[in-house]
Amino acid sequence: MPKKFKRVLVANRGEIAIRVFRACQELGIRTVAIYSNEDKCSLFRTKADEAYLIGKNKDPIEAYLSIDEIIDLAVKKGVDAIHPGYGFLSENPEFARKCEEAGIEFIGPTHEMMEKLGDKIKSKIVAKKVGVPTIPGVEKPITSEEEAIEFARHCGYPVMLKAAAGGGGRGMRIVKSENDLIKEFRSAKSEAKKAFGIDDIFIEKYLEKPKHIEVQILGDKYGNIVHLFERDCSIQRRHQKIIEYTPAISLTEEKRQAICNDAIKIAKAVDYRGAGTVEFLVDAQGNHYFIEMNPRIQVEHTITEMVTGIDIVQSQILVAEGYSLNSPQIGIKSQDSIETRGYSIQCRITTEDPSLNFAPDTGKIDIYRTGSGFGIRLDGGNGFTGSIISPYYDSLLVKTISWSRTFDDAIRKAIRAIKEHTIMGVKTNADFLINILNHEQFKKGECDTRFIADNPDLFD
Ligand code: ADP
Repeated sequence: MPKKFKRVLVANRGEIAIRVFRACQELGIRTVAIYSNEDKCSLFRTKADEAYLIGKNKDPIEAYLSIDEIIDLAVKKGVDAIHPGYGFLSENPEFARKCEEAGIEFIGPTHEMMEKLGDKIKSKIVAKKVGVPTIPGVEKPITSEEEAIEFARHCGYPVMLKAAAGGGGRGMRIVKSENDLIKEFRSAKSEAKKAFGIDDIFIEKYLEKPKHIEVQILGDKYGNIVHLFERDCSIQRRHQKIIEYTPAISLTEEKRQAICNDAIKIAKAVDYRGAGTVEFLVDAQGNHYFIEMNPRIQVEHTITEMVTGIDIVQSQILVAEGYSLNSPQIGIKSQDSIETRGYSIQCRITTEDPSLNFAPDTGKIDIYRTGSGFGIRLDGGNGFTGSIISPYYDSLLVKTISWSRTFDDAIRKAIRAIKEHTIMGVKTNADFLINILNHEQFKKGECDTRFIADNPDLFD
Protein backbone atom coordinates (compact mmCIF):
# COMPACT_ATOMS: atom_id res chain seq x y z
CA MET A 1 0.00 0.00 0.00
CA PRO A 2 1.49 3.37 -0.93
CA LYS A 3 2.13 5.69 2.02
CA LYS A 4 1.45 9.36 1.30
CA PHE A 5 4.18 11.71 2.50
CA LYS A 6 3.09 14.62 4.68
CA ARG A 7 6.43 16.43 4.83
CA VAL A 8 9.42 16.30 2.53
CA LEU A 9 12.79 17.89 3.28
CA VAL A 10 15.00 18.91 0.38
CA ALA A 11 18.68 18.42 1.21
CA ASN A 12 19.79 20.89 -1.42
CA ARG A 13 19.64 24.53 -2.46
CA GLY A 14 19.00 26.80 -5.43
CA GLU A 15 16.97 25.92 -8.47
CA ILE A 16 16.66 22.19 -7.81
CA ALA A 17 15.33 22.84 -4.29
CA ILE A 18 12.67 25.10 -5.78
CA ARG A 19 11.89 22.51 -8.46
CA VAL A 20 11.26 19.86 -5.79
CA PHE A 21 9.21 22.22 -3.59
CA ARG A 22 6.96 22.89 -6.57
CA ALA A 23 6.44 19.19 -7.20
CA CYS A 24 5.63 18.62 -3.52
CA GLN A 25 3.21 21.51 -3.34
CA GLU A 26 1.33 20.18 -6.34
CA LEU A 27 1.12 16.80 -4.61
CA GLY A 28 -0.19 18.39 -1.40
CA ILE A 29 3.00 17.74 0.58
CA ARG A 30 4.42 20.21 3.13
CA THR A 31 7.97 21.31 2.27
CA VAL A 32 11.02 21.76 4.49
CA ALA A 33 14.15 23.63 3.36
CA ILE A 34 17.60 23.64 4.86
CA TYR A 35 20.01 26.51 4.26
CA SER A 36 23.56 27.45 5.12
CA ASN A 37 24.70 30.74 6.69
CA GLU A 38 25.59 31.99 3.23
CA ASP A 39 22.11 31.17 1.93
CA LYS A 40 20.25 33.13 4.62
CA CYS A 41 18.94 35.55 1.99
CA SER A 42 18.57 33.11 -0.88
CA LEU A 43 15.28 32.80 -2.66
CA PHE A 44 14.85 29.05 -2.39
CA ARG A 45 14.41 28.99 1.38
CA THR A 46 11.43 31.31 1.13
CA LYS A 47 9.73 28.93 -1.30
CA ALA A 48 9.38 26.18 1.33
CA ASP A 49 6.78 26.01 4.08
CA GLU A 50 9.52 25.77 6.69
CA ALA A 51 13.24 26.50 6.56
CA TYR A 52 16.07 25.68 8.98
CA LEU A 53 19.66 26.77 9.25
CA ILE A 54 22.19 23.93 9.16
CA GLY A 55 25.97 23.73 9.40
CA LYS A 56 26.18 26.88 11.53
CA ASN A 57 29.92 26.51 12.03
CA LYS A 58 30.69 24.83 8.76
CA ASP A 59 31.86 26.17 5.45
CA PRO A 60 29.27 26.88 2.72
CA ILE A 61 29.57 23.52 0.97
CA GLU A 62 30.13 21.40 4.06
CA ALA A 63 26.84 22.67 5.49
CA TYR A 64 24.90 20.78 2.80
CA LEU A 65 26.98 17.67 3.39
CA SER A 66 26.20 17.39 7.12
CA ILE A 67 24.59 13.95 6.98
CA ASP A 68 23.87 13.49 10.68
CA GLU A 69 22.70 17.03 11.28
CA ILE A 70 20.31 16.91 8.33
CA ILE A 71 18.86 13.55 9.38
CA ASP A 72 18.52 14.64 13.03
CA LEU A 73 16.67 17.74 11.91
CA ALA A 74 14.39 15.68 9.66
CA VAL A 75 13.54 13.31 12.52
CA LYS A 76 12.88 16.21 14.88
CA LYS A 77 10.58 17.93 12.41
CA GLY A 78 8.58 14.81 11.60
CA VAL A 79 9.76 14.59 7.99
CA ASP A 80 8.67 11.44 6.08
CA ALA A 81 11.11 11.67 3.18
CA ILE A 82 14.22 13.49 1.96
CA HIS A 83 14.84 14.53 -1.63
CA PRO A 84 18.57 14.98 -2.27
CA GLY A 85 18.37 16.94 -5.56
CA TYR A 86 21.60 16.69 -7.58
CA GLY A 87 25.18 17.17 -6.39
CA PHE A 88 25.82 17.36 -2.63
CA LEU A 89 24.55 14.11 -0.99
CA SER A 90 22.53 12.84 -3.94
CA GLU A 91 24.93 10.01 -4.80
CA ASN A 92 26.08 9.20 -1.30
CA PRO A 93 25.07 5.66 -0.29
CA GLU A 94 25.86 6.38 3.36
CA PHE A 95 23.29 9.17 3.38
CA ALA A 96 20.67 6.92 1.76
CA ARG A 97 21.41 4.18 4.27
CA LYS A 98 21.28 6.50 7.28
CA CYS A 99 17.94 7.93 6.09
CA GLU A 100 16.58 4.40 5.92
CA GLU A 101 17.92 3.58 9.40
CA ALA A 102 16.23 6.70 10.77
CA GLY A 103 12.91 5.60 9.24
CA ILE A 104 13.00 8.33 6.60
CA GLU A 105 12.39 7.49 2.94
CA PHE A 106 15.27 8.54 0.70
CA ILE A 107 13.77 9.72 -2.59
CA GLY A 108 16.06 7.84 -4.92
CA PRO A 109 17.49 4.35 -5.37
CA THR A 110 18.45 2.20 -2.38
CA HIS A 111 21.94 2.45 -0.99
CA GLU A 112 22.60 -1.08 -2.27
CA MET A 113 21.79 0.01 -5.83
CA MET A 114 24.02 3.06 -5.44
CA GLU A 115 26.85 0.83 -4.21
CA LYS A 116 26.44 -1.48 -7.19
CA LEU A 117 26.63 1.36 -9.68
CA GLY A 118 29.00 3.03 -7.28
CA ASP A 119 31.67 4.65 -9.28
CA LYS A 120 32.45 4.80 -12.97
CA ILE A 121 34.53 1.60 -12.85
CA LYS A 122 31.88 -0.49 -11.10
CA SER A 123 29.11 0.67 -13.40
CA LYS A 124 31.18 -0.16 -16.49
CA ILE A 125 31.52 -3.71 -15.17
CA VAL A 126 27.73 -3.93 -14.73
CA ALA A 127 27.28 -2.72 -18.33
CA LYS A 128 29.75 -5.26 -19.68
CA LYS A 129 28.03 -8.10 -17.85
CA VAL A 130 24.75 -7.38 -19.61
CA GLY A 131 26.40 -7.01 -23.00
CA VAL A 132 26.32 -3.22 -23.32
CA PRO A 133 29.38 -1.81 -25.10
CA THR A 134 31.81 0.21 -22.99
CA ILE A 135 34.87 2.26 -23.95
CA PRO A 136 37.99 0.05 -23.91
CA GLY A 137 39.66 0.57 -20.56
CA VAL A 138 40.96 -1.06 -17.42
CA GLU A 139 38.56 -2.82 -15.07
CA LYS A 140 40.23 -1.88 -11.81
CA PRO A 141 41.68 1.33 -10.40
CA ILE A 142 45.23 1.76 -11.65
CA THR A 143 47.86 1.95 -8.96
CA SER A 144 51.03 2.73 -10.87
CA GLU A 145 52.34 4.60 -13.92
CA GLU A 146 53.42 1.23 -15.36
CA GLU A 147 49.86 -0.06 -15.45
CA ALA A 148 48.70 3.11 -17.17
CA ILE A 149 51.53 2.94 -19.72
CA GLU A 150 50.88 -0.70 -20.45
CA PHE A 151 47.22 -0.01 -21.20
CA ALA A 152 48.00 3.04 -23.35
CA ARG A 153 50.62 1.13 -25.37
CA HIS A 154 48.10 -1.57 -25.99
CA CYS A 155 45.16 0.65 -27.01
CA GLY A 156 47.04 3.64 -28.47
CA TYR A 157 46.99 7.38 -27.62
CA PRO A 158 45.12 9.56 -26.82
CA VAL A 159 43.81 8.08 -23.60
CA MET A 160 41.82 9.54 -20.76
CA LEU A 161 42.60 9.41 -17.06
CA LYS A 162 39.43 9.58 -15.01
CA ALA A 163 38.60 9.75 -11.33
CA ALA A 164 36.32 6.81 -10.50
CA ALA A 165 34.30 9.08 -8.22
CA GLY A 166 34.41 12.04 -10.61
CA GLY A 167 31.44 14.21 -11.42
CA GLY A 168 30.44 17.54 -12.90
CA GLY A 169 33.06 17.25 -15.60
CA ARG A 170 35.89 17.27 -13.07
CA GLY A 171 38.65 14.73 -12.54
CA MET A 172 39.34 13.99 -16.20
CA ARG A 173 42.54 14.39 -18.23
CA ILE A 174 43.20 13.80 -21.88
CA VAL A 175 46.68 12.34 -22.35
CA LYS A 176 48.38 12.35 -25.74
CA SER A 177 51.79 10.78 -25.10
CA GLU A 178 53.68 8.51 -22.76
CA ASN A 179 55.64 11.44 -21.34
CA ASP A 180 52.44 13.23 -20.46
CA LEU A 181 50.98 10.08 -18.98
CA ILE A 182 53.85 9.79 -16.54
CA LYS A 183 53.47 13.46 -15.63
CA GLU A 184 49.69 13.39 -15.30
CA PHE A 185 49.26 10.12 -13.41
CA ARG A 186 50.37 11.35 -9.97
CA SER A 187 48.70 14.71 -10.18
CA ALA A 188 45.43 13.15 -11.40
CA LYS A 189 45.50 10.83 -8.41
CA SER A 190 46.12 13.54 -5.84
CA GLU A 191 43.60 15.82 -7.50
CA ALA A 192 40.97 13.07 -7.30
CA LYS A 193 41.71 12.63 -3.61
CA LYS A 194 41.33 16.33 -2.99
CA ALA A 195 38.17 16.79 -5.01
CA PHE A 196 36.28 13.58 -4.25
CA GLY A 197 37.95 12.13 -1.15
CA ILE A 198 38.83 8.94 -3.08
CA ASP A 199 41.98 8.64 -5.17
CA ASP A 200 40.87 5.73 -7.40
CA ILE A 201 41.62 6.60 -10.99
CA PHE A 202 41.26 4.56 -14.14
CA ILE A 203 42.22 4.85 -17.77
CA GLU A 204 40.29 4.38 -20.98
CA LYS A 205 40.53 5.17 -24.67
CA TYR A 206 39.83 8.83 -25.48
CA LEU A 207 37.19 9.18 -28.20
CA GLU A 208 38.10 12.10 -30.47
CA LYS A 209 34.78 13.69 -31.38
CA PRO A 210 31.92 11.84 -29.75
CA LYS A 211 28.40 12.95 -29.05
CA HIS A 212 27.05 12.69 -25.53
CA ILE A 213 23.67 10.95 -25.59
CA GLU A 214 21.91 9.98 -22.38
CA VAL A 215 18.71 8.14 -21.56
CA GLN A 216 16.23 9.02 -18.83
CA ILE A 217 15.12 6.02 -16.77
CA LEU A 218 12.25 5.64 -14.34
CA GLY A 219 11.69 2.58 -12.18
CA ASP A 220 9.25 1.71 -9.38
CA LYS A 221 9.54 -0.54 -6.32
CA TYR A 222 7.92 -3.48 -8.14
CA GLY A 223 10.55 -4.08 -10.81
CA ASN A 224 8.91 -2.01 -13.56
CA ILE A 225 11.44 0.06 -15.50
CA VAL A 226 10.85 2.34 -18.47
CA HIS A 227 12.92 4.84 -20.41
CA LEU A 228 11.73 8.33 -21.34
CA PHE A 229 13.96 8.48 -24.41
CA GLU A 230 17.20 10.35 -24.92
CA ARG A 231 18.82 13.76 -24.63
CA ASP A 232 21.71 15.16 -26.65
CA CYS A 233 24.10 16.85 -24.21
CA SER A 234 27.06 17.32 -26.54
CA ILE A 235 27.27 21.08 -26.11
CA GLN A 236 29.86 21.12 -23.36
CA ARG A 237 32.65 23.30 -22.11
CA ARG A 238 35.38 21.50 -20.21
CA HIS A 239 33.19 18.38 -20.07
CA GLN A 240 30.33 20.33 -18.50
CA LYS A 241 26.97 20.55 -20.21
CA ILE A 242 25.74 23.95 -21.33
CA ILE A 243 22.88 23.30 -23.75
CA GLU A 244 20.84 20.09 -23.96
CA TYR A 245 18.07 19.10 -26.32
CA THR A 246 15.72 16.28 -27.14
CA PRO A 247 15.07 14.33 -29.32
CA ALA A 248 18.65 13.82 -30.51
CA ILE A 249 18.03 14.63 -34.16
CA SER A 250 21.30 13.15 -35.38
CA LEU A 251 20.33 9.60 -34.41
CA THR A 252 18.56 7.20 -36.73
CA GLU A 253 15.43 5.68 -35.23
CA GLU A 254 17.22 2.33 -35.09
CA LYS A 255 20.19 3.77 -33.18
CA ARG A 256 17.90 5.65 -30.82
CA GLN A 257 16.06 2.42 -29.95
CA ALA A 258 19.32 0.51 -29.52
CA ILE A 259 20.69 3.08 -27.06
CA CYS A 260 17.43 3.26 -25.10
CA ASN A 261 17.26 -0.55 -24.94
CA ASP A 262 20.83 -0.73 -23.66
CA ALA A 263 19.99 1.84 -20.98
CA ILE A 264 17.10 -0.36 -19.85
CA LYS A 265 19.42 -3.40 -19.71
CA ILE A 266 21.74 -1.60 -17.30
CA ALA A 267 18.90 -0.31 -15.11
CA LYS A 268 17.40 -3.81 -14.98
CA ALA A 269 20.75 -5.33 -14.04
CA VAL A 270 20.62 -3.46 -10.72
CA ASP A 271 16.82 -3.54 -10.34
CA TYR A 272 16.88 0.23 -10.52
CA ARG A 273 14.19 2.32 -8.89
CA GLY A 274 13.47 6.04 -9.07
CA ALA A 275 14.79 8.43 -11.69
CA GLY A 276 18.22 7.83 -13.16
CA THR A 277 20.23 8.60 -16.27
CA VAL A 278 22.32 6.24 -18.33
CA GLU A 279 25.02 8.12 -20.23
CA PHE A 280 26.65 7.10 -23.50
CA LEU A 281 29.17 8.48 -25.93
CA VAL A 282 28.49 7.94 -29.64
CA ASP A 283 31.52 8.05 -31.92
CA ALA A 284 31.68 9.45 -35.46
CA GLN A 285 30.95 5.98 -36.89
CA GLY A 286 27.76 5.76 -34.84
CA ASN A 287 29.00 3.23 -32.29
CA HIS A 288 27.67 3.88 -28.80
CA TYR A 289 29.46 3.19 -25.53
CA PHE A 290 28.16 3.36 -21.97
CA ILE A 291 30.10 5.80 -19.75
CA GLU A 292 28.21 6.06 -16.49
CA MET A 293 24.86 5.95 -14.73
CA ASN A 294 23.73 8.84 -12.55
CA PRO A 295 21.37 7.63 -9.82
CA ARG A 296 19.57 10.93 -9.31
CA ILE A 297 17.63 13.71 -10.98
CA GLN A 298 19.71 15.66 -13.50
CA VAL A 299 19.84 19.36 -14.29
CA GLU A 300 18.53 18.65 -17.79
CA HIS A 301 15.52 16.50 -16.79
CA THR A 302 13.30 19.41 -17.80
CA ILE A 303 13.51 18.86 -21.56
CA THR A 304 12.37 15.25 -21.20
CA GLU A 305 9.39 16.50 -19.19
CA MET A 306 8.55 18.97 -21.96
CA VAL A 307 8.40 16.36 -24.74
CA THR A 308 6.88 13.45 -22.77
CA GLY A 309 4.50 15.39 -20.52
CA ILE A 310 5.72 13.30 -17.57
CA ASP A 311 6.68 15.18 -14.40
CA ILE A 312 9.87 13.32 -13.46
CA VAL A 313 10.26 14.89 -10.01
CA GLN A 314 6.67 14.10 -9.04
CA SER A 315 7.20 10.58 -10.37
CA GLN A 316 10.27 10.20 -8.14
CA ILE A 317 8.22 11.21 -5.11
CA LEU A 318 5.28 8.96 -6.03
CA VAL A 319 7.59 6.00 -6.62
CA ALA A 320 9.13 6.61 -3.19
CA GLU A 321 5.62 6.68 -1.69
CA GLY A 322 5.12 3.22 -3.17
CA TYR A 323 3.04 3.88 -6.29
CA SER A 324 3.69 1.71 -9.31
CA LEU A 325 4.50 3.32 -12.64
CA ASN A 326 1.13 2.23 -14.02
CA SER A 327 -0.87 3.59 -11.09
CA PRO A 328 -3.29 6.39 -11.97
CA GLN A 329 -1.09 8.76 -9.91
CA ILE A 330 1.96 8.25 -12.16
CA GLY A 331 0.03 7.15 -15.21
CA ILE A 332 2.68 5.31 -17.25
CA LYS A 333 0.75 2.30 -18.53
CA SER A 334 3.65 0.72 -20.39
CA GLN A 335 6.81 1.56 -22.31
CA ASP A 336 4.79 1.76 -25.51
CA SER A 337 2.43 4.31 -23.99
CA ILE A 338 5.28 6.84 -23.69
CA GLU A 339 5.56 9.12 -26.69
CA THR A 340 7.48 12.28 -27.34
CA ARG A 341 5.98 15.33 -28.94
CA GLY A 342 7.96 18.18 -30.43
CA TYR A 343 11.44 19.41 -29.49
CA SER A 344 12.83 20.94 -26.34
CA ILE A 345 16.08 22.79 -25.65
CA GLN A 346 17.54 23.80 -22.30
CA CYS A 347 20.08 26.63 -22.06
CA ARG A 348 21.91 27.12 -18.79
CA ILE A 349 22.25 30.84 -18.09
CA THR A 350 25.13 31.20 -15.68
CA THR A 351 26.69 34.17 -13.87
CA GLU A 352 29.98 33.75 -15.70
CA ASP A 353 31.97 36.17 -17.77
CA PRO A 354 32.84 34.65 -21.18
CA SER A 355 35.40 37.40 -21.81
CA LEU A 356 37.29 36.34 -18.68
CA ASN A 357 37.42 32.66 -19.56
CA PHE A 358 34.06 32.13 -17.87
CA ALA A 359 35.21 33.27 -14.45
CA PRO A 360 32.21 33.30 -12.08
CA ASP A 361 30.87 36.81 -11.55
CA THR A 362 29.37 37.75 -8.19
CA GLY A 363 27.63 40.65 -6.53
CA LYS A 364 24.22 42.26 -6.58
CA ILE A 365 21.79 41.82 -9.46
CA ASP A 366 20.53 45.35 -10.15
CA ILE A 367 17.92 44.40 -12.72
CA TYR A 368 16.44 40.96 -13.30
CA ARG A 369 13.80 40.56 -15.97
CA THR A 370 13.23 37.27 -17.70
CA GLY A 371 11.76 36.15 -21.00
CA SER A 372 8.48 34.30 -21.13
CA GLY A 373 5.66 33.49 -23.54
CA PHE A 374 4.31 30.38 -25.24
CA GLY A 375 6.70 27.45 -25.18
CA ILE A 376 9.08 28.90 -22.60
CA ARG A 377 9.74 27.43 -19.16
CA LEU A 378 12.15 28.94 -16.65
CA ASP A 379 13.57 26.96 -13.73
CA GLY A 380 15.39 29.56 -11.69
CA GLY A 381 17.55 29.68 -8.61
CA ASN A 382 18.41 32.92 -6.94
CA GLY A 383 17.62 35.47 -9.60
CA PHE A 384 15.62 38.55 -8.66
CA THR A 385 16.27 42.26 -8.66
CA GLY A 386 18.40 42.96 -5.61
CA SER A 387 19.58 39.39 -5.05
CA ILE A 388 23.20 38.71 -4.23
CA ILE A 389 25.15 36.15 -6.21
CA SER A 390 27.70 34.67 -3.83
CA PRO A 391 30.97 33.03 -4.83
CA TYR A 392 30.31 29.89 -2.81
CA TYR A 393 28.09 27.79 -5.05
CA ASP A 394 27.75 26.89 -8.70
CA SER A 395 26.98 29.72 -11.05
CA LEU A 396 23.72 28.42 -12.58
CA LEU A 397 21.26 31.32 -12.53
CA VAL A 398 18.28 30.18 -14.58
CA LYS A 399 17.54 27.35 -16.98
CA THR A 400 15.69 28.64 -20.02
CA ILE A 401 13.78 25.81 -21.62
CA SER A 402 11.98 26.10 -24.92
CA TRP A 403 9.49 23.74 -26.52
CA SER A 404 8.07 23.74 -30.01
CA ARG A 405 6.80 21.46 -32.78
CA THR A 406 10.03 21.58 -34.78
CA PHE A 407 13.69 21.84 -33.78
CA ASP A 408 14.07 25.10 -35.74
CA ASP A 409 11.12 26.65 -33.93
CA ALA A 410 12.45 25.53 -30.56
CA ILE A 411 15.78 27.22 -31.40
CA ARG A 412 14.07 30.44 -32.46
CA LYS A 413 11.99 30.47 -29.29
CA ALA A 414 15.09 29.90 -27.13
CA ILE A 415 16.91 32.79 -28.82
CA ARG A 416 13.89 35.06 -28.51
CA ALA A 417 13.45 34.23 -24.81
CA ILE A 418 17.13 34.66 -23.94
CA LYS A 419 17.14 38.03 -25.73
CA GLU A 420 14.15 39.07 -23.62
CA HIS A 421 16.16 38.52 -20.44
CA THR A 422 17.63 41.70 -18.96
CA ILE A 423 20.12 40.85 -16.26
CA MET A 424 22.26 43.70 -15.00
CA GLY A 425 24.81 43.95 -12.21
CA VAL A 426 26.42 40.59 -12.89
CA LYS A 427 27.81 39.22 -16.15
CA THR A 428 26.11 36.25 -17.76
CA ASN A 429 26.84 33.88 -20.63
CA ALA A 430 23.60 34.84 -22.46
CA ASP A 431 25.29 36.12 -25.65
CA PHE A 432 27.51 33.07 -25.80
CA LEU A 433 24.43 30.83 -25.65
CA ILE A 434 22.81 32.78 -28.49
CA ASN A 435 25.95 32.37 -30.62
CA ILE A 436 25.73 28.61 -30.16
CA LEU A 437 22.00 28.50 -30.95
CA ASN A 438 22.59 30.52 -34.13
CA HIS A 439 25.36 28.26 -35.39
CA GLU A 440 24.59 26.23 -38.55
CA GLN A 441 26.16 23.12 -37.06
CA PHE A 442 23.90 23.38 -34.01
CA LYS A 443 20.82 23.81 -36.18
CA LYS A 444 21.66 20.57 -37.98
CA GLY A 445 22.18 18.70 -34.71
CA GLU A 446 25.74 17.94 -35.75
CA CYS A 447 27.69 19.30 -32.78
CA ASP A 448 29.95 16.90 -30.90
CA THR A 449 31.51 17.39 -27.47
CA ARG A 450 34.47 19.28 -29.03
CA PHE A 451 32.21 21.86 -30.69
CA ILE A 452 32.87 24.74 -28.26
CA ALA A 453 36.61 24.04 -28.03
CA ASP A 454 36.84 23.90 -31.84
CA ASN A 455 34.90 27.15 -32.44
CA PRO A 456 36.60 30.12 -30.78
CA ASP A 457 34.38 32.47 -32.80
CA LEU A 458 31.52 31.57 -30.42
CA PHE A 459 33.16 33.83 -27.83
CA ASP A 460 32.86 36.96 -29.98
P1 ADP B 1 31.11 13.48 -15.18
O1 ADP B 1 30.63 12.40 -14.27
O2 ADP B 1 32.14 14.34 -14.56
O3 ADP B 1 30.01 14.24 -15.85
P2 ADP B 1 31.41 11.74 -17.50
O4 ADP B 1 32.08 10.44 -17.36
O5 ADP B 1 29.92 11.74 -17.54
O6 ADP B 1 31.91 12.72 -16.34
O7 ADP B 1 31.97 12.48 -18.79
C1 ADP B 1 31.69 13.84 -19.03
C2 ADP B 1 32.11 14.21 -20.42
O8 ADP B 1 33.51 13.98 -20.59
C3 ADP B 1 31.47 13.39 -21.53
O9 ADP B 1 30.21 13.87 -21.88
C4 ADP B 1 32.48 13.58 -22.64
O10 ADP B 1 32.36 14.84 -23.25
C5 ADP B 1 33.80 13.54 -21.90
N1 ADP B 1 34.35 12.16 -21.87
C6 ADP B 1 34.26 11.27 -20.88
N2 ADP B 1 34.91 10.13 -21.19
C7 ADP B 1 35.42 10.30 -22.43
C8 ADP B 1 36.19 9.51 -23.32
N3 ADP B 1 36.59 8.29 -22.99
N4 ADP B 1 36.51 10.03 -24.52
C9 ADP B 1 36.13 11.28 -24.88
N5 ADP B 1 35.41 12.08 -24.08
C10 ADP B 1 35.06 11.61 -22.88
